[in-house]
Amino acid sequence: MRKLLLIEDEPNFARFVELELEHEGFEVTAVHNGREGFLLASGQEWDLILLDLMLPGLSGIEICRRLRSQRNKTPIIMLTARNSVMDRVSGLDSGADDYLPKPFEIEELLARIRALFRRVDPSEDEENEKIEFLDLQVYVGSRTVKRDGEELSFTKREFDLLVVLLRNANNVLSRDQLLDLVWGFESEAETNVVDVYVRYIRQKLGGGDKYIQTVRGVGYVMKG
Ligand code: CA
Repeated sequence: MRKLLLIEDEPNFARFVELELEHEGFEVTAVHNGREGFLLASGQEWDLILLDLMLPGLSGIEICRRLRSQRNKTPIIMLTARNSVMDRVSGLDSGADDYLPKPFEIEELLARIRALFRRVDPSEDEENEKIEFLDLQVYVGSRTVKRDGEELSFTKREFDLLVVLLRNANNVLSRDQLLDLVWGFESEAETNVVDVYVRYIRQKLGGGDKYIQTVRGVGYVMKG
């Protein structure tokens, strides 16, 4: 079971995140103070640290900096209400692996956690992962897409976008979320690139919007 440390001073929010993550099968330890959080973060082995930026005792940035200066490489996702470019930059400069502004949908946090674990340890579950959706079969490890048994050819980016949509089936993802998850949140790409790639994927899959539906003003969803 993967062990997560959640350092977040807002107790109701921390409790909510903790319950959701436990529901997903993670073992979660939550602390509400920066200093205590740092001691736990540096003193024990964790698979992931979720770190609030504004904390009593010691700030998220400072915790991150200190851990990295101790050569602690535990993956860190920063959670914060602040979302200025400066905060994003200082969060990343301090050594965080990803950055998620509040408020966020829990599905997005879970998607980021999965993405981070795949980056850290790509062999883990991706190798044999098979996703089925309507008449599609997607083999993540071999990057193969079949429709009704017939193999279809996808570029790397098209495939990555398709897999993100499939893994979040029935959840609407905004263009910004898709851009972050597929192109990387430091990417300079514009959100309309998402529309372009959705069009490519639809052309290859056929069936118009049978697989990927547009949610006007929001983004896209695969509804199964
Ligand atoms: Ca806070």
